[in-house]
Amino acid sequence: WSIDTIAVVTGANRGIGLEIVHQLAMHGLTVILTSRETGVGEEAARVLLEGGLNVVVHKLDIVDPSSIKIFAEWIQQNYGGIDILVNNAGVNFNVGTENSVESAEKVIETNYFGTKNMIKAMIPLMRPSASGARIVSVSSRLGRLNGRRNRIGDVTLRQQLEDMNLLSEELIDRTVTKFIEQVKDGSWTSCGWPQVFTDYSMSKLAVNAYTRLMAKILSDRPEGQKIYINCYCPGWVKTAMTGWAGHTTPEDGADTGVWLALLPEQFVRGKFFAERREINF
Ligand code: NDP
Repeated sequence: WSIDTIAVVTGANRGIGLEIVHQLAMHGLTVILTSRETGVGEEAARVLLEGGLNVVVHKLDIVDPSSIKIFAEWIQQNYGGIDILVNNAGVNFNVGTENSVESAEKVIETNYFGTKNMIKAMIPLMRPSASGARIVSVSSRLGRLNGRRNRIGDVTLRQQLEDMNLLSEELIDRTVTKFIEQVKDGSWTSCGWPQVFTDYSMSKLAVNAYTRLMAKILSDRPEGQKIYINCYCPGWVKTAMTGWAGHTTPEDGADTGVWLALLPEQFVRGKFFAERREINF
């Protein structure tokens, strides 16, 4: 890895994202630290820049299509493309053990649609290389399709989302849209959605499904233009999102994401990881 390797990290002004920037930059890459607020991003980058790391700040709001467009144009003009995309930006409004769906629309919009829009916008910018470009999304075990305690109750829907012959972008979009509609009309409680952190779990379930789908779609790319996409759960991490509760630090939470972004094995695609090991979706 060298200064010519360009990595982009979303939602990187704090928490796990900032630590992913730090660790990638420590490997000698040029890392684009993106943040909704430029000033906040610059403040976050200060220590890394003082340490001599190659970190560049740019504004990016993943739910704003014009922000993504401006960012993509800036990348094209300044770097001609990227090699690594880490989709870290995310929101969660459930606190402690409380489950609320008040902000379900925002959670799905950011965590799923924002991530998806970034992936779509960055794929055309991913540069050809022998080792392949990389996309890593920070997801959660809460979004597991077959988690024992927190899964979708509708067996048919679960099977459709699991079956690679049936999985489609339209199916994922339809699933989260149906969930939002049921949140709005109040029927969601009796419709078999995950019982814990319901909206957040649905958003990450959609990210996971989209990762598997894109891995299949991207596998058609010719040799030299491969893109390997995976997702991972960072564990329960002490950040603003968890109110600083959790089992682990942002440093540890970033580790598997950085490992996946730099993994020498080229054949890993469409998988879900935690603590550097593959886990079930
Ligand atoms: P933080 O709340 O500390 O960081 C979230 C980051 O996402 C912030 O930089 C925030 O920016 C940014 N963000 C939110 N919305 C947008 C947006 N629309 N566009 C761009 N950036 C945005 O949380 P964590 O570091 O804990 O979370 C990072 C990722 O890890 C998330 O995807 C989260 O779901 C995931 N995760 C976290 C776990 C944990 O235990 N902490 C467990 C499992 C997964 P701003 O400062 O402007 O709000």
